[in-house]
Amino acid sequence: AYDGPSRDEVIALRKQYVSPGVITYYKDPLMIVEGKMQYLWDETGRRYLDAFAGIVTVSVGHCHPKVLEKVNAQTGKLQHTTTIYLHPTIGQFAEKLAGEMPEGLSRSYFTNSGSEANEVAILSAREHTGNTDVIALRNGYHGGTSVPMSLTAHGTWKFPSNPSVGVHHALPGYCYRCPFDLEYPSCGLKCAYDVENVIRYQTPGQIACFIGEPIQGVGGTVTPPKEYFQVVYDIVRKHGGICIADEVQGGFGRTGEHYWSHQNYGVVPDGITMAKGMGNGVPLGGFTTTPQISEAMAKRIHFNTFGGNPVSMTQGLATLEVIEEEGIQENARVVGGRLKEGLLELQEKHPLIGDVRGLGLMLGVELVRDRKSKEPANTEAADVMERMKERGVIIGKGGLYGNTLRIKPPMCLTADDADYLVMSLDETLNELSNNT
Ligand code: PMP
Repeated sequence: AYDGPSRDEVIALRKQYVSPGVITYYKDPLMIVEGKMQYLWDETGRRYLDAFAGIVTVSVGHCHPKVLEKVNAQTGKLQHTTTIYLHPTIGQFAEKLAGEMPEGLSRSYFTNSGSEANEVAILSAREHTGNTDVIALRNGYHGGTSVPMSLTAHGTWKFPSNPSVGVHHALPGYCYRCPFDLEYPSCGLKCAYDVENVIRYQTPGQIACFIGEPIQGVGGTVTPPKEYFQVVYDIVRKHGGICIADEVQGGFGRTGEHYWSHQNYGVVPDGITMAKGMGNGVPLGGFTTTPQISEAMAKRIHFNTFGGNPVSMTQGLATLEVIEEEGIQENARVVGGRLKEGLLELQEKHPLIGDVRGLGLMLGVELVRDRKSKEPANTEAADVMERMKERGVIIGKGGLYGNTLRIKPPMCLTADDADYLVMSLDETLNELSNNT
């Protein structure tokens, strides 16, 4: 049983000594002291089904035994020296990762977070092309450091002092809230062609790169039509830019049919940024690209003290092995499919559910007060999240209005867990409509 400081003591310590910029999620903050696969325990011993995975980070399960065994052995032997000395793990992990990549993407630069991975990707694109301008997508999220904060396109995450030199935003494929009020496919993918206008009007015509999440995570699991990225990538390449897929949330089998979420769109990027699920819970990120583009990082010395450390490399390698050995991607496809079906059934019963979208175990449920006006049901979404917690299920929310429930569990989720989640959401929505 848990025998550490009480919840109140923990809250008091945070209040007094931790930056107010470090926020908690629930009205009555949840304290988690233990995790095992898809389950979490609070300090009282209460168990929760984790359907948010530490914000889409724990990919194969909390404290997965095979991962733990390997990383514990490494931790006991050597934790850190930096990459100025040789250690076998960095090359071994990079080789394994290259084996999962689309043809041609073989060189990795390792970081400790998704933000840093995106910094490296944009720097590489600018140095490789000699151009400065970068196109990202509205409603996207790419991190909290300087350049990624500029790439991010929700006012909520933008600090007034952060300059966004050379960053422009084009329209995402957000069909449920189409900016042109059109319907797919008769719309002719008008949103995707917006990239051409952004380049024409806001840049010198030659750009460094395009970066986009194939499925927007923080933005509320926004899942564009299947031809969207083909159109965008073609335009970007015509204007000298390279195409970067931010796979921080969608990668590592989460979307089920494919290992990488961009593969659902039939495109091959020139570089991929990763983090979160890559390390199943340790600080690990990276940028993988072609040998030619990777040369950009050798123009000067670029050094990351913790990037490529033996502990993170070992954990990354063990995570990729488990994804393969335990059929994690296939599980995401099958259990994710079942979960989505269940959510679609709930949509038929509950008018609050405006849209159900996503692939595999990367799902979103957008709540609206009225299906015609699509008025965002943001306070309702917060309420659903609280009530789901009371039922022992942890989910997330996102989108510009915070009205989209985000369901992205560790990918070891079982069919029973999926059914339990759907039943809990059904009961929660019943409760809400009865105003209890
Ligand atoms: N890209 C995407 C798509 C993300 O969702 C996030 C984190 N939510 C990041 C980048 C930034 O990652 P980190 O918080 O590890 O810096």
